[in-house]
Amino acid sequence: MFDSYRENTLRYNPERCFGCLRCTEVCPHGVFARRDRRVEVVGPEECMECGACARNCPAQAIEVQSGVGCAWAMIGAALRGRDMDSGTCGCEGDGEPCCGSGR
Ligand code: SF4
Ligand code: SF4
Repeated sequence: MFDSYRENTLRYNPERCFGCLRCTEVCPHGVFARRDRRVEVVGPEECMECGACARNCPAQAIEVQSGVGCAWAMIGAALRGRDMDSGTCGCEGDGEPCCGSGR
């Protein structure tokens, strides 16, 4: 089964987090959630590498390479005016979509 947390580029350093919760506000997939005075990654497999969390984190506690994963593939397909093959971005592992499409 495709493990998007291992295979995507999202990395979180809780030592830097001071709990401003910006990442929970901007993430469209609820990947982060409040935990005590910080956040924790609660849905890593939902990350589509859009980069919003990293761009908005004032503590540089999050790193993600946007533009290399599912989000980029989906945007590219949209710009080309085509549906992605079989409703996925094409980066599925053993046949299961990794970008949430088809769920
Ligand atoms: S890169 Fe986008 S989808 Fe992934 S955790 Fe950050 S805001 Fe959420
Ligand atoms: S945006 Fe950064 S500092 Fe703020 S809660 Fe999220 S990880 Fe922590």
